[in-house]
Amino acid sequence: MFKKTVQTPIELSIVIPVYNEEESIRLLYAELKDSLDKLDKNYEIILINDGSKDGTAEILKELSAQDKQLKTINFTRNFGQTAAMSAGFHYAQGDIIVTLDADLQNPPQDIGLLLDEMAKGYDVVSGWRKKRNDPFLSRRLPSMIANSLISKITGVKLHDYGCTLKAYKKDILKDIHLYGEMHRFIPALTSWMGARVAEIPVSHSARKFGTSKYGLNRTFRVILDLINVKFLITYSTRPIQFFGKIGLLSLAGAALSLAGLVGYKLLYGTDMTGNPLLYLAILLILIGVQFITLGLLGEINIRIYH
Ligand code: UDP
Ligand code: MG
Repeated sequence: MFKKTVQTPIELSIVIPVYNEEESIRLLYAELKDSLDKLDKNYEIILINDGSKDGTAEILKELSAQDKQLKTINFTRNFGQTAAMSAGFHYAQGDIIVTLDADLQNPPQDIGLLLDEMAKGYDVVSGWRKKRNDPFLSRRLPSMIANSLISKITGVKLHDYGCTLKAYKKDILKDIHLYGEMHRFIPALTSWMGARVAEIPVSHSARKFGTSKYGLNRTFRVILDLINVKFLITYSTRPIQFFGKIGLLSLAGAALSLAGLVGYKLLYGTDMTGNPLLYLAILLILIGVQFITLGLLGEINIRIYH
């Protein structure tokens, strides 16, 4: 029998960001090959070295020299997981792209499960680490809060936004621009573009080698990006509706203050210049005008965008 040759179009691209994972890489590669060869799909593996300072680059060079299906991208410095994934998406040729972590916490054996679910007609299938092997206080608790917050705010309900093990149709990623911490919001961003999103339980192991690249401060970056994503999803094409609303509310507040000011003067003869309501009104007028102007500036930007 003939094996599928490299000439046949690539059906599946595996995209993995790698940052200082020298102890895991060989094992990951072996497990990946093992799982992918069983799938009977023409695949490629794209490993993005995100400016590792350990021996990762050398190991990647050595592995890719022997395997045409393994492609590597080397960043000149550490740009972060989102940038690494974005570069991987850019170079991926497969119709389906699967992402996972390099630290062996996401088992390559589960890739098949994602593909099976995708075959049911979904554009994005997200892994859910139902039995997650991470510390509770520093990891699982903040993640639970983040997941319910992201689900509520984006309207796309998932148990586990943070799980890197996800599968995407390539077409659906084409128009998504990633930066900051945004890779975790891809399900929400794509759903906004009309993608059908599913979630299935996947296994999760504790980190065996090396250390996690993140601490608690990631939570703050994720929250800021959540605000950004929410803004992009709901108001990016109509900024005046967002800023203008705040501006009008502020002006309405100013009108109330002024009415109160005049009321005090008429009823009790209170001195207008000594009344704090005057200063509140001035402040609210300034804020209101600022916000409306901000909305108009936003509208001008949107014209350039369109
Ligand atoms: N990673 C990366 N660049 C970074 C930080 C992390 O490419 O700046 C990679 C890392 O090598 C791993 C994945 O992103 O493959 C997830 O990182 P980590 O396992 O440290 O995160 P955790 O699982 O602790 O959330
Ligand atoms: Mg990890």
